[in-house]
Amino acid sequence: MTVNTIAPDALKVLITGGARGIGGATARLLAEAGAHVMIADVLDKEGKALAAALGDKAVYHHLDVTREADWRAAVKAATKAFGGLNALFNNAGIADFASVEACSPDAFRKLIDINLTGVFLGLHVCAPALREAGGGVIVNTSSTAGLQGYGGLAAYVASKWGVRGLTKAAALDLADGGIRVVSVHPGPITTPMTEGMGNEVVATQPLPRFGEAKEVARMVRFLMTEATFSTGSEFVIDGGAVTGQVLPL
Ligand code: NAD
Repeated sequence: MTVNTIAPDALKVLITGGARGIGGATARLLAEAGAHVMIADVLDKEGKALAAALGDKAVYHHLDVTREADWRAAVKAATKAFGGLNALFNNAGIADFASVEACSPDAFRKLIDINLTGVFLGLHVCAPALREAGGGVIVNTSSTAGLQGYGGLAAYVASKWGVRGLTKAAALDLADGGIRVVSVHPGPITTPMTEGMGNEVVATQPLPRFGEAKEVARMVRFLMTEATFSTGSEFVIDGGAVTGQVLPL
């Protein structure tokens, strides 16, 4: 099947976790490129303010990604407001800085519910709308924590490996509808999630700095509009963090 490029101003996209951080930067970039953007989040004040700042093609919708009913209402509203839906940025997530021993079972379940089940619900509920639109693209936010392990981040690592695997399953299931599904894998990016982290976190990277949210947003825009032969694949934005290590020889 041939999948065509989508002009940025033809995108009709729902962005979860769109009120701030990586989702917020992506909402801004895509809205500036002329896309119809639904900012979906639980941070109503921040989300409404961003949508108002981005002009009349941007709308805000309250969406808790763990609630199927919220997803169904958001997709209905986006379809009505934009005349369809052809893209999803499945991006909302939380972090829990706890080891396997320190992470409580309740905290583990909560994180998996948001970071992994939330992504599943997005795929499950949005896929029929994208099929109806004749195809489209879904970008799931994993992490470098979906490519390797990190100590002290047990639930987060598990969730992000799950997102990477689910991306591949969905790419296989949805290709016949002209729907591409890919994952992005950011390394440390300056957002509220990484507040308080020091430069030691990035010191051994080939590019030893935190990334900016707009650097992830630019990758997402490329994947949504131009990457017509990519599906099921992984796109890393990490300053080289997972490239390897320099041996002390
Ligand atoms: P952030 O905290 O700024 O943004 C996360 C957004 O998700 C917030 O707006 C928050 O309100 C929203 N959210 C949380 N729970 C939600 C729920 N139940 N329903 C709907 N929205 C919810 O952090 P960020 O860094 O922009 O994170 C965005 C994504 O990028 C996350 O999936 C995160 O795991 C991933 N990520 C971040 C980094 C980083 O270094 N910042 C690195 C790799 C991956």
